[in-house]
Amino acid sequence: MKELKRLVPYLRPRVPLLVASTFLLIVSGLLEALIISLLAPIFDQLAPSAAAAGGKFDFLRVWLGLEGDSYLGKVALFLVIFSLVKGVCLFVADYSLNYAGERLVATLREDLYGHILDQSLAFFSRFSTGKLMTRIITDTERLHEAVGKRLTDFIRQIFLLIFFLGLVFYADWKLALLSFAIAPVVLLITFRLGRKIRRDSLLSQENLYDLSHVLQQTVSGQKIVQAFNAQTWEKDRLRRLLERLVRSNLKVARMQALGSPLIEFIGYAAFVPFLLYFNYKLGQGFALSSFVVFVAALFRLYEPVRKLSRMHLFFQQTFASAQRVFELLDTRIEVKEVPGAPDLPPFREEIRFHRVWFAYPENPQLPVLRDIDLRIRKGEMLALVGMSGAGKSTLVSLIPRFYDPTSGSVTIDGWDLREVTLSSLRSQVALVTQETFLFDDTVRNNIAYSRFDARQEEVEEAARAAFIHDFIMSLPDGYDTVVGERGHRLSGGERQRIAIARAILKKAPILLLDEATSSLDSESELLVRSALENLMQRCTSVVIAHRLSTVRRADRIVVLHQGRIVEVGSHEMLMARSGIYRRLNELQFADVESMQPVEDYGE
Ligand code: ADP
Repeated sequence: MKELKRLVPYLRPRVPLLVASTFLLIVSGLLEALIISLLAPIFDQLAPSAAAAGGKFDFLRVWLGLEGDSYLGKVALFLVIFSLVKGVCLFVADYSLNYAGERLVATLREDLYGHILDQSLAFFSRFSTGKLMTRIITDTERLHEAVGKRLTDFIRQIFLLIFFLGLVFYADWKLALLSFAIAPVVLLITFRLGRKIRRDSLLSQENLYDLSHVLQQTVSGQKIVQAFNAQTWEKDRLRRLLERLVRSNLKVARMQALGSPLIEFIGYAAFVPFLLYFNYKLGQGFALSSFVVFVAALFRLYEPVRKLSRMHLFFQQTFASAQRVFELLDTRIEVKEVPGAPDLPPFREEIRFHRVWFAYPENPQLPVLRDIDLRIRKGEMLALVGMSGAGKSTLVSLIPRFYDPTSGSVTIDGWDLREVTLSSLRSQVALVTQETFLFDDTVRNNIAYSRFDARQEEVEEAARAAFIHDFIMSLPDGYDTVVGERGHRLSGGERQRIAIARAILKKAPILLLDEATSSLDSESELLVRSALENLMQRCTSVVIAHRLSTVRRADRIVVLHQGRIVEVGSHEMLMARSGIYRRLNELQFADVESMQPVEDYGE
């Protein structure tokens, strides 16, 4: 019920359509009952002796003016008219409800997708890609089917049930009561089965999630899978998951398959007392026409009962889907704009961390940043140095507000980041990550991802500044070359320079750079470094520095250790102290010694 309520706001704009469609379905149901009732005058005409016993459908003769020679012709004409009108009603109602369903699900999908895109990074570490994909595609598809296709049938069958029931009772209520003595049994069975199916199909869904998760992982990590000869292991794992899925699916299928035959059997079994009663009535003489209508309506009742009982099962699964969809929609957006937030004015002076503490939601006990006080002045290049896990990436990710500090604040020119619009903040920040992420699209679109309206000349200018233009021109389709999933058709250095071009094109005043640790060959290293220099010249930059050359060029070096700022200063200053920086340096020293003259590194 709760899920149904959640759908209400989505249904609200479609209420007139729903009401009109329901009305049309009622009309079509009535017409269907009327069509069956038309059997009565036909039989009265065919067997006048039985008609003399007084049928319950005599009124039809009067209503429809069925008199005279063309009696049967008139009945036939009414049959045709009724079924035509019924058909039109059904068509209009069916289409309208499908329309409402399509719109509803489109809106729901849009909301869901938008909701996900707005989530903070913490959300994505909680929900795997596979899980998200199933929810967005499979679960909404089920809702789509439920609302778009099954709803028409549901409403239609309900009214058919009501009208045929009415007809059956009207024709012979004693006979009707006798026939329906079995109804409670049927209801009990459907209810029991339904509950079981709901539980088992939840399990099936979970298994499907696991499968798509593993699949997604192995496909994206196939290089590692092959390199480590883990195919057999992966296959085994997949087989086990598949086996689990098959078993839970079969369980659901078993229950579903059991439903119809069981109910059908009970239906036929109920014929025994029915025929006994009929036999008894025959001896008394009664109106054949009423009996014919009774039997016809009883048979027609079978379809709504069967369909509705199945639908019950289908809707059970739909509720499970709705539950998952709404669970996702209900996840709080942790990084949220305050209503009516102003835009952040263009960056003028400084970025400031004021007594910032931060812990990841998964691990609230463990602060990753502790009491960070830091000023980054405009035009400055700040290098962040520290051991892996010291909190450098976390500190940087607070600037575009991927997360909010647990306590304390981050401000730009005095504006608390939580009080300005996210778009105005992020438009001023360019991010170049260690792992460059390219979309499976053309080179041009990948560069222009930072500014969709950029002209070709601007894109090329950015590419030149990133030293990638000549390379792009040498590609078969130039800027229109598609880079492949995650840019796998390009080398690491090329990908990085495209990412740098993207950042250059953005012309954002603040640059956040996570320097790549992966070693590039010296030529691309040189190109990447020059490209970065071009980029940094224009910006205030915060660089997570891994290369000594970068660190030395920085205006200031901030050393993080276990979430705290432990040292701040220039390279020379920090080397003069025998602190962490010096130790880190000496460790790196060992690496570079063989490549460059020692004097280059000062003392
Ligand atoms: P650095 O960039 O200096 O290597 P990070 O900022 O990436 O350090 O990580 C600091 C600490 O925070 C590490 O102990 C890491 O395990 C933890 N951490 C990083 N990202 C997350 C996350 N999304 N959820 C929970 N903990 C995280």
